[in-house]
Amino acid sequence: MPGFELWSDKERKEVNDVLETGILMRYGFDGPRKGIWKAKELEAAVCQTFGSKYAQLTSSGTAALTTAMGALGIGYGDEVITPSFTFVASFEAILSVGAVPVLVDVDDTLTLAPDAVRKAITPKTKAIMPVHMCGSMADMDALLFICKEHSLFLLEDACQSIGGTYKGKHLGTIGDAGTFSFDFVKTMTCGEGGVIMTNREDLYIKSDGYTDHGHDHKGVDRGADLHPFIGYNYRISELHAAVGLAQIKRLDEFLSLQKKNHTQLKNILAQIPAISFRRIPDPAGDSCSFISWFLPTEEITKAVVAEMKAQGILPGNFYWFDNNWHYIRKWDHLKNADTLNSLHPDLKASVMEQANKDFSASDDVMSRCISTAISLLWNEEQIQEKGEKMVNVIKAVLNKHQIPA
Ligand SMILES: *Cc1c(COP(=O)(O)O)cnc(C)c1O
Repeated sequence: MPGFELWSDKERKEVNDVLETGILMRYGFDGPRKGIWKAKELEAAVCQTFGSKYAQLTSSGTAALTTAMGALGIGYGDEVITPSFTFVASFEAILSVGAVPVLVDVDDTLTLAPDAVRKAITPKTKAIMPVHMCGSMADMDALLFICKEHSLFLLEDACQSIGGTYKGKHLGTIGDAGTFSFDFVKTMTCGEGGVIMTNREDLYIKSDGYTDHGHDHKGVDRGADLHPFIGYNYRISELHAAVGLAQIKRLDEFLSLQKKNHTQLKNILAQIPAISFRRIPDPAGDSCSFISWFLPTEEITKAVVAEMKAQGILPGNFYWFDNNWHYIRKWDHLKNADTLNSLHPDLKASVMEQANKDFSASDDVMSRCISTAISLLWNEEQIQEKGEKMVNVIKAVLNKHQIPA
């Protein structure tokens, strides 16, 4: 999965360019920076690599989502549909603009179930935010259709699926806007960082201002900039952008290693007929950062997890159903709307109502799912050994439950 595994002289070189001039800020200081503009260069590289017309870097993926919400005008009174299985940042961003996160069930794609999305639409719905979890994509044709039908924005949280595609287009470039995270464990990293991609000039201009205190960036004198609207500071630093610039040039290398290791491990697991795999709407577009697989029942899955843990082979395998960060079941802070700042009582009531709905359809999927993260550092022998150990555990548990393995 992560680009940090292959840290190299290339990243050091880009960072050193910035350390030489000492201009760590992405805007201004035109003279002393001696032509070094890492953030601008990385934005151009993002556009070129992923086929997006515009790109605005941010200090994190969460900041990118928040900025996109702001640029789309989402706020008070609005509802945003997002999946029950995601990273907490998805609902944090929705809450940060004062909108209501409407959590909706996932299906065997591990992303938004289009039928469940349809049922969740109300007159207050403003946007659908699919999350392309664990390297692979949501059913984009179905979601695009629903958005068109109901005049809703489509905002893609592609933070976990850098390099994935759907019908030839990069994930994150298909909707009105899309985001990547470049945090430390993502497919390519800046250390911390994120980006908003869009083909809409209006959203880009708003994102550009929003991430830098509302500056219009029209002149060369920051002090003379106008502020057409109130913004925040979600800027990336030149040091972080420099790391990302080295990493984006290596992305093809990361992705091809990821695919190779993914294929080898998946072929080993596929020997067990009782295992099924995540449904992928466009298999050719899987970024292959994880293999997500299902066992027949929750009981068997829990037994496999326990046995992998006992044998010390659980690290790198994620049982999201019991995880505090990624699945609704353990998000007590959201269910109780535990915020530090007080929320308007109506908003608080809506947030709690949405988070405490019935998610049994998601439970059905998530309770049987394990995702295995793909390392870029594995060699073929290690994958073989890892795969065999996993297969042995799974077969032993299946035998105990009298299921043909
Ligand atoms: C990582 C991630 C984010 C947020 O990214 P940060 O850069 O860590 O703020 C948002 N959504 C998903 C699905 C993520 O995995």
